[in-house]
Order: sequence, then C-alpha cells, then structure tokens
Amino acid sequence: MPLGGDDHIGGSCLLVEAGGTRILVDAGLRPGDPGGPPRDIARAFDGPLDAVVVTHAHTDHCGYVPGLVARRPDLRVVATPPTTALMPAMWTDAVKVMAGRERGRARWGDAGAAALYGRDDVAAAVRRCEELAFGAPRGIGALTVELFPAGHVLGAAGVVVHAGGRRVVVTGDISGFRQETVDGYAVPESARGADLLVMESTCCAEEHDDRGMRVGELVRAVADVHRGGGRVLIPAFALGRAQELALIMKRWLPEVPVRIDGMAADLSAEFELLDPSLRILGGGTAVAARPGELDTFRTGVVISTSGMLTGGPALQWARRILPEPGSALFISGYQDEESPGRALRDLADTGGEFTLPDRAGEATVPVRARVATMRLSAHADRRGLLDVVDEVAPGRTMLVHGVAHRQRAFRETLRVRDRATVGTGAWRP
Ligand SMILES: [Zn+2]
Repeated sequence: MPLGGDDHIGGSCLLVEAGGTRILVDAGLRPGDPGGPPRDIARAFDGPLDAVVVTHAHTDHCGYVPGLVARRPDLRVVATPPTTALMPAMWTDAVKVMAGRERGRARWGDAGAAALYGRDDVAAAVRRCEELAFGAPRGIGALTVELFPAGHVLGAAGVVVHAGGRRVVVTGDISGFRQETVDGYAVPESARGADLLVMESTCCAEEHDDRGMRVGELVRAVADVHRGGGRVLIPAFALGRAQELALIMKRWLPEVPVRIDGMAADLSAEFELLDPSLRILGGGTAVAARPGELDTFRTGVVISTSGMLTGGPALQWARRILPEPGSALFISGYQDEESPGRALRDLADTGGEFTLPDRAGEATVPVRARVATMRLSAHADRRGLLDVVDEVAPGRTMLVHGVAHRQRAFRETLRVRDRATVGTGAWRP
C-alpha cells in the first residue's frame, strides 16, 4: 500500500508485505518548505522493516532514506550502482537545506521545520547501501526483487517484487524515449502478467510533442539569443535535467559556450565517472568560475541549480541576467505552486519587476530579458503510459505519483481499454 506520493507528487513510498517480510519501495521527501517525510510513514514503523528498494536518486524518491536508517539501523538499502553512487550527494544537499531552515527557525521562531536527519545519518545510510544490477534477482526475506531499466534518469529502475506466486511491478518514474543520458525503459519477461502494476502518472493527462520537436524549439531559441549577443540562463534540476541540457547544447550548438553551476556541476562530473561515454564537460562546456564569470561570461548558456529558483547560484545569475534586454531565462521543468520559478513564469507575459529570494534578504529586479518555458519532460505521457500497461499486461493497475483528478480521468481511459484498475489504498490479491 502507498504510504505517500500516491494522489500527489512528492514523498513517494510504497509498502509491500508478504510472509512476514516488509519492504518499502522508495522513501522520498515531500516538496515545499517545510518538506517532510512520506505522509503515512508512521505505518512503516508499525512492524519489522527489512529493506527499502530505491528506484532512483531524485529526492522525492530517495530523500527520506537516511531518516529511515536512523530509526532502523539494520535496514537494507537496495538500488542500482548509479543510484547508489548518486544518492549521497542528494542526501548531503538535503542536510544543507534542512540545516538552513533550522537556523531560520532558531532566528525567527517557527519559520522553518526541524531537520529530519544530519550528516551522521547520511554516513550511516551510505554504509547500508547494496548495489543491485538490472536483471539480477535478490532475496529479501520471503520476497525476491528484480530491477529493470525505467528510462527517466541515469540509474532509474522499475522493480518486480515476487512474493510466492504473486508479482507486483512498480515503475518508479518511467519514460520510453531515448534521452542524451539514458535510454527508454525495458520491461523484462518477469514483469509480464503481474498481479499488480503500480505506475507513476505525472503526465497522464498530457500528450507531449515529439521530443525532437521540443529539443529543436529550445535550440532555435538559444541560437536566437546568442546571435543577438545576449546570454541565456536555464535554471535546472541538479540530477538529470542539467546534464540533458548541457549535452543537447553540445550536440546542436557546439559553438555556443556553456557554463554549469552549483550542484548541477558536481553531479555532471559524477555522471561522467558513472558512464564514461557521457562527455558533458570539455570543449566549450565548463564549470562556472564564480564570482568572476557572473559578470564576464557575456555570451552563451548558463545551466544552474536550483531548478525552481528557490536557492543556489541560479539566483545570482538571475539577478544579473533578468534586467538584460537581449538575454533570456528559460524555465526547463516543473515548478511548484509556491516557488519563485512559478511566480516568474506567471510574470513572463506581463513583464514588470521580480523579487528573488536571496540569502541576505530579497532582491527586486526589473525583468527585461525574455522569459519562456521550454519543458523537456523525463516522464512518459498519456500514450507512453498506456504502452507501459500494454507491455506489462497486469491483472490490476494502481496509479501513483500524480494529481488525483487527472488520475481519475486516466483510470477511466484504462477502463475503456479493458484494463482493470484499483484505487490508491491498500491492495490485497
Ligand atoms: Zn524522478
């Protein structure tokens, strides 16, 4: 049963139990300030807990793992080798953000939430990690788990859980199209005809344009600004999106210099270690040299965290680039309702002034640069999700990781296609 991230996005967590064994698939943080553990995490601690299987290293799927290990020091943490390598950076960043909030709380009363874990908890969680390659079954008590490629981001896996004669397939976040850093999903034979498919539904109400078209639109927009002598800021998520953008620029606009900044830069170096065929840095692409380049890097593309302009060096770049008439800021991904990135996007049509959150308070700047949204999704759309259901051909499908009213509409689509669904509560065979 889902303990979080079912009819909402964030704090993904699914409890699977059989024959006295209890495992979680994912344990993510909910977004926002304060972010928190999965909604119903208390139920995980109702009984024994043998393992957490992590589908991928995005914080909304892995961010609470150190909190779990703090409560259950013997917990096994099972993930693919790339996910195992990427998670510590994500956890360490979460510690930094949470510590910052806690300082805010100490200074201004109850303005921030208490930290969920600290550096020692991250170190303990790292020691509990077990690498599991795609396609290799691993026993956990009465259960056997097997991982398969899910597309989405480097290292992302779907999970087949075998319990006696029953099988549950969990997609994690999934995509079928080829990206620069990762191929599409590959459903294994062992997943076909499973009793239950637990599938993400982030984009279940969308039909995405062909990825090539979206990439073409972005490349043309960047080339326009570059020709006019301006510079482009693309705030991007640290894991996956930033590396995709950098590689797209390198492939299609090799003459345009690119700077990667913040956590996006750290993870780009990590990506190159994990997959030597990925050449993100080098050529015209380099890690930004701050503070100097904030003013001297006059033409080219800056890719910087954070993706929603909540913090990170993207703020310092935005403060300079937004007032420049010939420059541009391209929003590249999902923006939370309350995020500065969303506020800026809403301002794109009207122009005016924009207030950036800043460590030293707030900064208001005039928006003269072009602001536009260039979404490059790493999730399957409605048609892509229908393909996943057709390939797995499960007895029942449960939708998670989506918005409730869109999930209702998509369940109706599945029903019309004779695919049985179940609600997001507990499921028993
Ligand atoms: Zn994800």
